[in-house]
Amino acid sequence: MLAARLHGAHDLRVEEVADRALASGEARVRVAMGGICGSDLSYYNKGGVGDFSVREPLTLGHEVSGTVAELAADPLGLAEPGLAVGSRVAINPSRPCLHCQACRAGRSNLCRSMRFLGSAALMPHVQGAFSESVVVRADQCVPVPDSMTLTLAACAEPLAVALHAVRRAGELAGRHVLVAGCGPIGLLCLAAALFAGAASVHVTDLFEAPLRIARQMGALRTIDVRADPAALEQAAADRGGFDAAFEATGASASLVGMPALMRPGGRIVQLGMLPKGGVPLPANLLMAREIDLVGSFRFHEEFAIAVAALASGRIDIAPILSGTMPLRRADEAFRLAGDRQRAIKVHLDLA
Ligand code: ZN
Repeated sequence: MLAARLHGAHDLRVEEVADRALASGEARVRVAMGGICGSDLSYYNKGGVGDFSVREPLTLGHEVSGTVAELAADPLGLAEPGLAVGSRVAINPSRPCLHCQACRAGRSNLCRSMRFLGSAALMPHVQGAFSESVVVRADQCVPVPDSMTLTLAACAEPLAVALHAVRRAGELAGRHVLVAGCGPIGLLCLAAALFAGAASVHVTDLFEAPLRIARQMGALRTIDVRADPAALEQAAADRGGFDAAFEATGASASLVGMPALMRPGGRIVQLGMLPKGGVPLPANLLMAREIDLVGSFRFHEEFAIAVAALASGRIDIAPILSGTMPLRRADEAFRLAGDRQRAIKVHLDLA
């Protein structure tokens, strides 16, 4: 089968890779759609993401959907009821161990033995799903209704990231929210915050094109922090500080500036991947204003919630869909996905 494999920064090759036999409890899925994520782009542009570098060829991709082609015996009953050959599914890229303390505490996103599709965190790497088919554990297959497109199903993963971040933010109903960064995750945080009842959401970025999409998706106000650096402080001052903020840029300066924008008792959720090393925080502000700073990493049960919210149309993410390209044009698709003036979320058609 063909797969989009990264051999190093800017060296993405569409090449033949070997299939493998299923183990007990596993499923083979014929992949249909794969969304290009910021972490895929980081691997592509820098040869790594956060603290992890590509040390062997890595098939990228973890935002995928498809059709079940083969199911092994499932003696532990891991699969969703009704999962069968032919089922259309969103694939949850998380494969936690199910046994460790984090897994047993219902926080399997923090599993220390997590195997996450398309990740260089472990050696050998966990190969991803930008390939014609992928083998996953049966419980990673979440059936979707016939009415749902497989492009939308492939968006469950990034939406789950945003829904988890909103959960980490605490109660948002009636609250004034800031989202820093208008990439796919920032825009989905905007959608998830409105879904959770936020009274207003301000969104920042350095580019006008994604800010326009934020306005389409219901942002009360968007601020180009490069063109108008004072506007964000003014917007915060006008409401006595934001109640909650989502840091989705991964830029140190964005996080460092955030405590000063919060009301006393507010909460900052960090979900952008910050550069290696530390960030000099105004910690006395956090202390004296009792501002919470929490991390948000991937998702757990929010994956199924994301599938349901997209299937029912209760969360509409259509404005972020920027187009689809065939697998053989993967390199071009990555370059498009990395162009913030032209694209938010680009999909590879792997069918
Ligand atoms: Zn675990």
